[in-house]
Amino acid sequence: MKKVNIIVPCFNESQVIDLFFNETVKVISDIKDYRFEFIFIDDGSSDGTDEILKRLAENFDFVKYISFSRNFGKESAMYAGLKNSDGDFAVLMDADLQHPPKLIPEMLSAVLSGYDCCSANRSTREKSSRILNFCKKRFYSFVNKISEVNMPDGAGDFRMMNRKMINAVVAMSEVQRFSKGIFSWVGFKTKNISFENVERAAGETKWSFWKLFKYALDGITAFSTTPLKIASVLGIFISLSAFIYLIFIIVKTLAFGIDAPGYASIITILLFIGGIIILSCGILGEYIAKIYMEVKNRPIYIIRDTNIENQNDDYKN
Ligand code: UDP
Ligand code: MG
Repeated sequence: MKKVNIIVPCFNESQVIDLFFNETVKVISDIKDYRFEFIFIDDGSSDGTDEILKRLAENFDFVKYISFSRNFGKESAMYAGLKNSDGDFAVLMDADLQHPPKLIPEMLSAVLSGYDCCSANRSTREKSSRILNFCKKRFYSFVNKISEVNMPDGAGDFRMMNRKMINAVVAMSEVQRFSKGIFSWVGFKTKNISFENVERAAGETKWSFWKLFKYALDGITAFSTTPLKIASVLGIFISLSAFIYLIFIIVKTLAFGIDAPGYASIITILLFIGGIIILSCGILGEYIAKIYMEVKNRPIYIIRDTNIENQNDDYKN
């Protein structure tokens, strides 16, 4: 019998886990030819999520859990789940029921019909502020323009993959992970299906504006070196303009002599060039910081407790 892992990152989700579990079990109990196994990842929760998961694992033998030693972030949680999965397929799901379990049969039939992956994308956005939604839209079109990966707007982490694709994703062992890019970068045949956005069943979102902003920056620098090129192009453009201006001044001085120097224009040019230099340093810095974090090669997550036997926990990325 083929096996499907349901991987669920949970950070302070004690209010919804039972609800999520019951809803999902209802759906999968109708699918007879497949064995399902949950892998819950408690991402350093402080609200008793780990206790709930432990209780579920004691009552149901198809429930596995991994508890992290602290909060490592959803990316690390998804990685841990995929790395410790052993099914023929795995589906990544949020614990808050924003990823409707009723789509599982459709996703399963997609990966059975020859697709390597089935991604369920939101066709509508959540009811957050208009400015935030605008920023998100801009972000996707910007990233798609400048990077080598194509991330459809609305594509999230809700997807089912076959073993080939899981192995490819796990092989991408970078410490600073940006899954949306990774899923696209590894390639494979992906079927996109869409669903209407659902509001969170309970609890609240873990994303603040700043967390999102940092995540967006990570997404750009992880899959594109275009910002570095922009810095170089700006440098060339400014040097060239400066050279042309220099010739203009020489000719003007020879022809008309020296007139009173322009204080305002000097200040403007100085500030402009200063700004560009600082911006370029910042862009360089972003990439150097990335290299720094990556060469340290720290583990992506650290397990405090789990019921998975001989799990892949050798701390080697
Ligand atoms: N999550 C996590 N670690 C984190 C933040 C979030 O494992 O540091 C999980 C969270 O428990 C949920 C999923 O990631 O299952 C999506 O989080 P959330 O619902 O807060 O994000 P949103 O749906 O608002 O984008
Ligand atoms: Mg959510």
